[in-house]
Amino acid sequence: MRTLIEHLDFACTVNGSDEVIKDAAVLIEDQWIADIGSTTELHKRHTRGTIDKIIDGTLIGICPGFVDTHVHLSETLSRAAFPDHLNTRTWVFHWAKPFYAHVNEEDEYISVLLGATEMLRAGTTCFLDMGAQNDPGVTVRAIEQVGMRGITGRHAADNPPEQLPKGWSEEMVAHHFFPDTQTALRELEDCVRRWDGSAGGRIRCWVNIEGKEPCSLELHVGARALAEKLGVGTTYHLATSIEEADVCQRKHGCWPLTRIANAGGLGSNLVIAHGAAISDDEVALLARHDTRVAFCPGTSLKLGKGATCIGKYPEMIDAGVTVGLGTDGVSASGNLNLMRQMYAVAGLFKDARNDPTAIGARQALRMATIDGARALDWDREIGSLEVGKRADFILFDLDHVEWTPYTDPLQALVWSATSASIIETWVDGQALYREGRVQTVDETALKQEARERAAAIVERAGLEFDHGPSSTSLYD
Ligand SMILES: [Zn+2]
Repeated sequence: MRTLIEHLDFACTVNGSDEVIKDAAVLIEDQWIADIGSTTELHKRHTRGTIDKIIDGTLIGICPGFVDTHVHLSETLSRAAFPDHLNTRTWVFHWAKPFYAHVNEEDEYISVLLGATEMLRAGTTCFLDMGAQNDPGVTVRAIEQVGMRGITGRHAADNPPEQLPKGWSEEMVAHHFFPDTQTALRELEDCVRRWDGSAGGRIRCWVNIEGKEPCSLELHVGARALAEKLGVGTTYHLATSIEEADVCQRKHGCWPLTRIANAGGLGSNLVIAHGAAISDDEVALLARHDTRVAFCPGTSLKLGKGATCIGKYPEMIDAGVTVGLGTDGVSASGNLNLMRQMYAVAGLFKDARNDPTAIGARQALRMATIDGARALDWDREIGSLEVGKRADFILFDLDHVEWTPYTDPLQALVWSATSASIIETWVDGQALYREGRVQTVDETALKQEARERAAAIVERAGLEFDHGPSSTSLYD
C-alpha cells in the first residue's frame, strides 16, 4: 500500500538539522516512510500511477509522533483521586501505592486502553511504561489491540518497608516485592523473554524496576546488568525529589545517582525517571555513562519537585545527556498529554533562569520526539520524519483557530497549538486516531467502564480525599 500525502503546509522533520519543509509531501509505503520532500520533488520521483491513495495536505501540518519516556499506564484510573498538596514520597507511599494495590487485572486492562486513547488523541505514538501492576501480559494485550508502539515491563522491588502503610494489600506486596534480588531478577528475565518483541516488534519489554527506597542497591545495579545481557533497556525512578536525596545522604553518605554510579550501575541502556535532585558532578556522571533521563515537567509542577530551582535539565542537555519528556501518569501530572509537557519545558527554564535562550521551542520538540526515541534506543526507527523510518506521525489542522494565522511552524507548534488541533495520529502507517476518535477502541464504552472501575478502586483502597495522610516517615 502506497499513500502519498501532498501539499502539506509544512513538515517539521526533526532530522539532524531540524529541517522544516514547506509545501511538503510524504510517501508512506506500508509501515514505512518511503520518501519525504517538497511536493514538487516527490511528484518528480514518483508517478501517480504507482500510488494507491493520495491525500490532500492543504492546511495540514505534519510532525513526528511524540515519544513519552515515562508513563504509568496502570495508573490511568486514578485521575484527580489524590489531593495536590502532597510531596513526592507521601504521594507515592500513602496514595499511589494503596491505589495500585487495588487495581486488578481487568482494571489494569481498561486503564491501559484508556491511557493509550488519551495519548493517541494527544499525538503520542510511542511510550516507555514503567511497568504493570499485574502481569505485563495485560498491558501487552491492551497495547496490541490499540496498535501503539511502546515498552513495558514488570514493576519490581525487593526492599519492603518495615511496616506496611494503610492500604498496601498483602497481595500487592507479594506481587511487587520479591524476597531477594536474585528472585526478582529471574522473574524480570522471564518477563523480557516472554514479552519482548510482541505485536511484530511494536511492543518491547524491559527490565523495569521501581527504583529508589523500595529497591536494594543490588537490584538497581543488577537490573541494568541483566538488561545489557538481554540486549534491552531498564528504567527506574531515581533522585525524584530532594527528600529522597536527603534520606539517601543520611543513610548512605551521598545522593542517589552517585550511589548507583559508585556501584558501577550507570550505562547507556538506563533511563532515569525524573532525576530532579542531581548535582553538577552527577550531571557529568550521566554524560560520561551516556545514561538517559526522562524529565516529567507536569509532575514537577504538581508535586513541587523543584525542577527549576534544584533541577539541572538545561545543564544535562548542554553536557550532551539525552533528556526525553514524560507525562508520568494522570495522578502524578494530571494528564498523558505530551504537548503540555513540551510547552512547559520550552518555557520553564527561560523564566526560572531569567534567560530567553534556555531550552525553547526547537529543543522542546526534539525532547518530545527524537531525543525521547534515543532515550528508548528506538531512534533508528522512530522520532523523526526521514526515509526508512516508521510512519509514526501527527497531522495538525492548520485551519484551527490556534494556528490562525501563523508564520513559523515550529513556534506555532510548541507555543500556540494544543492537541485540540490534532486531526490524525498514525502509528506504523495506520491512522489510529482520525475523525475524532481512536479507531481501535470503543471510546464510549471504555469511558463508561473506566468511570465505574475508578470509583470502585477508590472505595476498595479506602482513599479519603479530604482526610488522607499529608506526610510520611516511611523508609526514613
Ligand atoms: Zn513514575
